[in-house]
Amino acid sequence: MNIMTNMFYLFSTFCFVIGLKFLGRPATARKGNLFSSIGMLIAVVATLFSKDIVSFEMIAVGISVGSIIGFVAARVVAMTAMPQLVALFNGLGGLASLLIGIGIYLKTFQYTLLDAIIVCLAVTIGGVTFTGSLIAWAKLSGIISGKPITHILLKILYFLFILTTLIISVLFSIHWSADPNLFYILVTSACFLGILGVLFIGGADMPVVISLLNSCSGLAASATGFVVHNNLLIIAGALVGASGIILTKIMCQSMNRSLNNVLFMGILKKKSHAKTIEGETQPINIENTYYLLEAARNVLIVPGFGLAVSQAQHSVKELTQILEDNGAIVNFGIHPVAGRMPGHMNVLLAEANIDYDQLLEMDQVNSTMELTDVCIVIGANDVVNPSAREDKSGPIYGMPIINVDKAKTVIVLKRSMATGYAGIQNGLFYKDNTRMLFGDAKSSIQELINEFKSSA
Ligand code: NDP
Repeated sequence: MNIMTNMFYLFSTFCFVIGLKFLGRPATARKGNLFSSIGMLIAVVATLFSKDIVSFEMIAVGISVGSIIGFVAARVVAMTAMPQLVALFNGLGGLASLLIGIGIYLKTFQYTLLDAIIVCLAVTIGGVTFTGSLIAWAKLSGIISGKPITHILLKILYFLFILTTLIISVLFSIHWSADPNLFYILVTSACFLGILGVLFIGGADMPVVISLLNSCSGLAASATGFVVHNNLLIIAGALVGASGIILTKIMCQSMNRSLNNVLFMGILKKKSHAKTIEGETQPINIENTYYLLEAARNVLIVPGFGLAVSQAQHSVKELTQILEDNGAIVNFGIHPVAGRMPGHMNVLLAEANIDYDQLLEMDQVNSTMELTDVCIVIGANDVVNPSAREDKSGPIYGMPIINVDKAKTVIVLKRSMATGYAGIQNGLFYKDNTRMLFGDAKSSIQELINEFKSSA
């Protein structure tokens, strides 16, 4: 690869790093996307002119197919189905590394020890990422059960595949010209590891798995970069791998879990059981909700996944404006794992031009919760579930939550008494200071806005 190509790659890397830095804050995230895209464009153009890589025809076919798939996906896939889409993208990254690893194995006969180790890594990580992502996609789409599937036979198979992968990788690294069938056993074994590893995980842990698989797809790409001697692929893969693992760590911390616990709880531990909650809820109608909000001076809105489902962000913005015009201070309490991906709520609220300064982090709102007159919970469930503090036997015990139950009055907007993603009952709905406003969040908020307007 010539020096010019490497210079362009260096500049692309610079754009990626600056892009990542900007992506760290909602206010600069667009700029971050722009920088990263420019970096990628430069990388693609530089690669196009480096003719030793691949033919122009192949590149044109690749770009056309990729563009069509990307265009259709961006148009058709709903915001709420983003995690599934990300899972599929990760899977394709893994498949690419797997295929390149196989291609290199079939094409090359002279290997150093390092080459052999790297090909084994690319194939193993690529295979695990590919099939693991497909299973994650199937779970999140509801094609197979979202719960952990932990049959004892599957556990035995899992350990057998781990052993097989390790033994064959070592064999291959020592003796490259070993029986080619062994190489295909390694590929098969890696693919089964991905399937089983993700089958064991389920429920609220799935987004963590998606993030981890994202990191794996970066590591697989990086390993592939070593295989095909492409510096940019090594660096870009490492950046994806590192940022993915940081994100995974943040998610685990927000759920008060370790990564080991997320990955291996399905294999090693018995299931935890939440206590059954009994009691009466207190439903409220639009008119009485209006009276409560009209008198409130300090309002906190806590959004969750239901806000994304009902696409209520623009109505929320309008209601916020009305409450402020009425003399109330309105803020938003954002839980780090509200919704189905990190930053999900920030993205939704930014779409409706809600001021970033109004978006407060969990610790900030918890410290002043007692002073809140009315807390409006919009489509959030697990992230406001007090059993995370109160029920030691429950699956979310220890997870930091927004303590909305400590506000003077809580109004919960949801359609039914259905559970959230973690699949457990929520004691908040039965508390004395909680009122349930049943219905689609967007419709309820719109009705509230109408009530304010008609009473003005
Ligand atoms: P939940 O999934 O706990 O609850 C969402 C609630 O929204 C449901 O109870 C549902 O009740 C309600 N809802 C759905 N549609 C509507 C609608 N149209 N109108 C009104 N309400 C609606 O969401 P949370 O945001 O509270 O919690 C996120 C979950 O995801 C947590 O378990 C978290 O651990 C997990 N997670 C998230 C990650 C992330 O990065 N964001 C990462 C890791 C895990 P009903 O059907 O009755 O309307």
